[in-house]
Amino acid sequence: MRKKLVAGNWKMNKTFLTSKELITELIEKLTKEDLEKVDVIICPPFTAIYSAKELIEGSGLKLGAQNVFHKDDGAFTGEISASMLKSLNCNYVIIGHSERRQFFNETNHLINLKVKNAIKNNLFVILCVGETLEEREENIHKKIVDEQVTLCLRDLSKEDVGKNIIIAYEPIWAIGTGKTATPEQANEMHIEIRKSLENIFGKDVADSIRILYGGSVNDKNSAELFAKSDIDGGLIGGASLKSDNFTSIVKSAL
Ligand code: PEP
Repeated sequence: MRKKLVAGNWKMNKTFLTSKELITELIEKLTKEDLEKVDVIICPPFTAIYSAKELIEGSGLKLGAQNVFHKDDGAFTGEISASMLKSLNCNYVIIGHSERRQFFNETNHLINLKVKNAIKNNLFVILCVGETLEEREENIHKKIVDEQVTLCLRDLSKEDVGKNIIIAYEPIWAIGTGKTATPEQANEMHIEIRKSLENIFGKDVADSIRILYGGSVNDKNSAELFAKSDIDGGLIGGASLKSDNFTSIVKSAL
């Protein structure tokens, strides 16, 4: 049985102070029992990670980052390493988000380097994959996503993937657009992704990996999405910025 996971990707939103407000509200609204039944991860901007670490201590909330570099240290101005995140109890990281691919030219090859380094440093990786609208209309979306899974997880062992990888299927046409994939469309792709994982890493690993859906998930559509056989939770953008919405989404995964 895969434990449900709900992660909030705050993107470039919330200052040091407004992050604190949101976290305080989440801790008030989510009970310890909720947080035992569902893994809930918040991914604030880097500037709020230290204060988030202090605030969530003992609450059951978990902390993630939105990006990480693929080298351990050195002259890489502006970058953040996996060990810097680990030192702040930030144990999760989103890698390969479509906005990083689109605006920062991140390729499957670079994402693979980041995933390998993050795993070497014992981070749990939320690896994002997903097709564009054109790719779906051309009916090549399954091939594109299979390629992303294969290339981004290249040279990783079964053990590493089974232990550290979470996949987020995020069709790009559904991110921030208000257009959600139907639960059936999403589940179909999750089953495809599980098949790709099975081909590379075997059935046991494929069956154990959590595959999240992301793309305009909100408190109205989350329950139906999370009820599907292969949807193990969500990666939530816009709706993670308001404590009421995010809390309702988490509770719909219970
Ligand atoms: C995301 O950025 O990962 C995302 C799914 O955004 P939204 O929920 O706003 O579509």
